[in-house]
Amino acid sequence: MSAPFRKLALIGIGLIGSSIALAARRQGLVETIAIATRKQETLDEARDLGLGDLYTLDAAEAVRGADLVILCTPVGAYESVIGTIAPALEPGAILSDVGSVKGHVVKVLKGHVPAGVSLIPAHPIAGTEHSGPSAGFPELFAGRWCVLTPGPEVEAAQTEKLAAFWRAMGSQVECMEPGHHDMVLAITSHIPHLVAYNIVGTVADLEAATQSEVIKFSASGFRDFTRIAASDPVMWRDVFLTNRDAVLEMLGRFTEDLSVLQRAVRTGDGPALEAMFTRTRAIRRSIISAGQETAAADFGRPHEAPPAPQSDSDEA
Ligand code: NAP
Repeated sequence: MSAPFRKLALIGIGLIGSSIALAARRQGLVETIAIATRKQETLDEARDLGLGDLYTLDAAEAVRGADLVILCTPVGAYESVIGTIAPALEPGAILSDVGSVKGHVVKVLKGHVPAGVSLIPAHPIAGTEHSGPSAGFPELFAGRWCVLTPGPEVEAAQTEKLAAFWRAMGSQVECMEPGHHDMVLAITSHIPHLVAYNIVGTVADLEAATQSEVIKFSASGFRDFTRIAASDPVMWRDVFLTNRDAVLEMLGRFTEDLSVLQRAVRTGDGPALEAMFTRTRAIRRSIISAGQETAAADFGRPHEAPPAPQSDSDEA
């Protein structure tokens, strides 16, 4: 039986691109995988790992003849990437991506998409704090959601074809309007990362003696923030530059709620604190029962015979 896609072009081959290459190959979803990236050393690493069939520094070359093109670079690179690949996109192809924001992506890409090409942005809600071609693993998307944000002009059959691709890699798929995606992800992913960057940044500014104690006793909570705050700086810079409105809206609500907590601590309002912590514990339980986390007290780290990468991590 022939594969659903003839040629997959991956532009950018870091954690997400390499995981797609491995999962798509394992599931027989594509006949050929073409890989394009910016740096020769990254391309060489991808080739050494055997992630594709064709390797090039010329994104247009990778895209030529592809019926599925997925942008897997940081979102800030899209403008230059689409300028390069647009003339090489072929009618009938699906142009997708994996970026962690969607409204901005649609704005940047839409005007460049040639007639007959379906723009279907996507965001797999799966990831780890590791980067680069060797960070990928084919199970990354298993049991994780993938959000698609097709515009009304996209044929339903094309959206279904891409949805089937993600389902075959283990994901559950949901379609959403881009602005709604950005609001949901601002609170589920972007603000938690901002909080983690901030708390770890505060520790980085402490004097050396205190800092070494923080590190020594980090298992009391701080450690789990450091894992999130170790996420790729460029990718996260781009997330905050391109999802500014939704992040600021959610940050406003977050700081209001923090002030309420601050007041409860200052006034010694035990019942208010206990009521709040009881509500938050229930949210944790509902995440576990939704299959998005294990009940282990290690924030999803594998704790039996350890596969190298973490599959139950936060993501963008
Ligand atoms: P990554 O491991 O850092 O890989 C990024 C890739 O993009 C590398 O191949 C890099 O190539 C290439 N690249 C970077 N800048 C480029 C540019 N200006 N032009 C062309 N190529 C460029 O990143 P990732 O974690 O896979 O993230 C990729 C995308 O997935 C991002 O848009 C992110 O928002 C999204 N995402 C990430 C996660 C996560 O948890 N990491 C989860 C869901 C979605 P060179 O080394 O050659 O520069």
